[in-house]
Amino acid sequence: MAETKSTCPYCGVGCGVVIESEGAQITGVRGDPDHPANFGRLCSKGSTLHLTASAAITRQARLLQPMQRLQRGQGPQASSWDAALPAITNQLADIIEHHGPDAVGLYVSGQLLTEDYYVFNKLAKGLIGTNNIDTNSRLCMSSAVAGYKATLGADAPPACYDDFNDAATVWVTGANPAWAHPVLVRRLEDARRANPQQKLVVVDPRRTETAAMADLHLQILPGTDIALCHGLLHLMLWEGWTDNAYIAAHTSGFEALKARVREYTPKETARMTGLQEADILQAARWFANVDAATGQRLPTLSLYCQGLNQSRSGTARNAALINLHLACGQIGQPGAGPLSLTGQPNAMGGREAGGLANLLSAHRDLANPAHRAEVAALWGLPSVPDKPGKTAVEMFQAAADGEIKALWITCTNPAQSLPDQAMVQRALQRAELVVVQEAFATTATAKYADWLLPATTWGEKDGTVTNSERRISRVRPAIPPAGAARHDWAIALDIARRLEARLRPGAPTLFGFDSPEAIWNEHRATTRGRDLDITGLSYPILDSQGPQQWPMPAGAASGRARLYEDGRFETPDGRARFFDTAALPLAEPRDARFPFSLTTGRLRDQWHGGSRTGTLGRLFGHQAEPSIDLHVQDMARLRLQDGDLVQVHSRRGDLVLPAVTSDSVAPTQAHVAMHWGGEVLGAGGAGGINTLTNPAFCPLSKQPELKHTAVRLQKAMLP
Ligand code: SF4
Repeated sequence: MAETKSTCPYCGVGCGVVIESEGAQITGVRGDPDHPANFGRLCSKGSTLHLTASAAITRQARLLQPMQRLQRGQGPQASSWDAALPAITNQLADIIEHHGPDAVGLYVSGQLLTEDYYVFNKLAKGLIGTNNIDTNSRLCMSSAVAGYKATLGADAPPACYDDFNDAATVWVTGANPAWAHPVLVRRLEDARRANPQQKLVVVDPRRTETAAMADLHLQILPGTDIALCHGLLHLMLWEGWTDNAYIAAHTSGFEALKARVREYTPKETARMTGLQEADILQAARWFANVDAATGQRLPTLSLYCQGLNQSRSGTARNAALINLHLACGQIGQPGAGPLSLTGQPNAMGGREAGGLANLLSAHRDLANPAHRAEVAALWGLPSVPDKPGKTAVEMFQAAADGEIKALWITCTNPAQSLPDQAMVQRALQRAELVVVQEAFATTATAKYADWLLPATTWGEKDGTVTNSERRISRVRPAIPPAGAARHDWAIALDIARRLEARLRPGAPTLFGFDSPEAIWNEHRATTRGRDLDITGLSYPILDSQGPQQWPMPAGAASGRARLYEDGRFETPDGRARFFDTAALPLAEPRDARFPFSLTTGRLRDQWHGGSRTGTLGRLFGHQAEPSIDLHVQDMARLRLQDGDLVQVHSRRGDLVLPAVTSDSVAPTQAHVAMHWGGEVLGAGGAGGINTLTNPAFCPLSKQPELKHTAVRLQKAMLP
């Protein structure tokens, strides 16, 4: 039996795993006791990785050879790499030559490794000449990115998991880590046992499992996060709890925000958020954390995720929270700071490699001419394109409109996960070429592929990922690729080299690497002098010293645990910026025609669209089928009993779901887990929950409002 250290492929906690294998078979998995994210722990998803790996094979969910769909509407037929690679290359090149480079869209994934991302990004921006490359991380983390940049000047989470141990208050908002990031909550429980004085405040419209643990649960009305933050700042100013010396020395823009929050009185904030004034005051006291007896300030750490991010005002919601940290000097010290939680294993690494429509390598901005020139020089090109690329929703809208002719989709399932599925299906049907590069043959998107390319997955892949606390970990292969599956970077590289022969004949190759380490070394070179400088790190150091947090510039003995300890930020003047915004309304507030607020969230034992977790029966023990959670009053008003089917209508589509009485939701609110796809929901639910959701997105982050939809409910009538 062999043992291989690697990283869990699910959430952004980034737990270390030890894979047990015999020959080409993964036989077991356990937590890596040496990994600083989890110290040996795994949750229900991580601890069943070996079972899902084998179930994917036995249940024929793995894609094991290239497949071609000769005619749309018919099933795909077995093909080969020798047939697929030249055919795809030629069709891509034809589309580029006839319609221009922006007729191609690459849609990638926060589950790809940093090395995969680097190759895809260089292929799109360096070779094809389009910035139309975006990632499903747009659906989960782009508002956190934009929030950090708007306030702190860089996409760099300043805090770390060890801060749980030092925090006097842990503030969780728009997140249910008890289910979505379970190992972090075990660490939080440890911290609370060691420090029984530590306060836990949870802000969430639902009474989640995390909220049930809290000393104070602020059950706000959906979409009122900014009003709450402004109301808290109003009280902090009134009570004298702000850190005026920190504000004066290290920030700018406070006066405008101070004037703004004057109108967010406790009474007005209570009206807007649906909270009690006394609870708002208690929350302000615990966030500001000024010891009444000594006047000493104790640290506050905030954790947040999709409840802030997946919103038309996602950037403003993130920034409103960071405003509080800056106003109280709660940043850059042990136990204090904002710490966004990533939903995918490598949402961070994708940002580092610049694999988004608005970014370039190493956190450079596409809109910045100096950054474009730097990347062009690094890649040995005269320039990189300056036209903004299409972000996730925009890319599929452009394909639905006929503007994008080729979609190359890798390791993600937009036919389930993007909002407004009717539009997404139009896009996949209208595109002239749809390439789906996947480990799993069973995704909803695979059905639309002209070419299905089998990719390696966890247990087979080799490279790196970065977790929520900026920690880079190795992903190592324990077994050879299944069937004819190939690594994502290698598939991209093969097509890139073929495309070079058509698009840049005779020019030296841009893709002179042939291993994950060589790709990573080129990526590393792009980080020199940047906020995420990792020029002091290498594969051998990761192997000998274990996972490291960035930055780790040349000469550093290890990575840095937390940022901004000296009070200098990544802005031109070194000062953090307060973000002044009014409380913004939901994209689609409930109204007389659609009187329910539908929110979406995650289950404990499922992950994303379930292509991996959905292969294992035991992971359905926690919740076996989709349902819509409703308050007891609404169940009575709609004359529903538990299990009755209810029709859920939004402005974009309909679903039928079993209703369940739940004390987690307030009256006029409903909740559905986001994992269920059309296969489970059946006719009428082809796109799963996203049949209903709204494609409206934040103008700064372009992240859609997946968290909230106005819906109408009525008891389903059996035919
Ligand atoms: Fe994997 Fe996240 Fe669970 Fe850790 S907490 S085992 S990273 S799913």
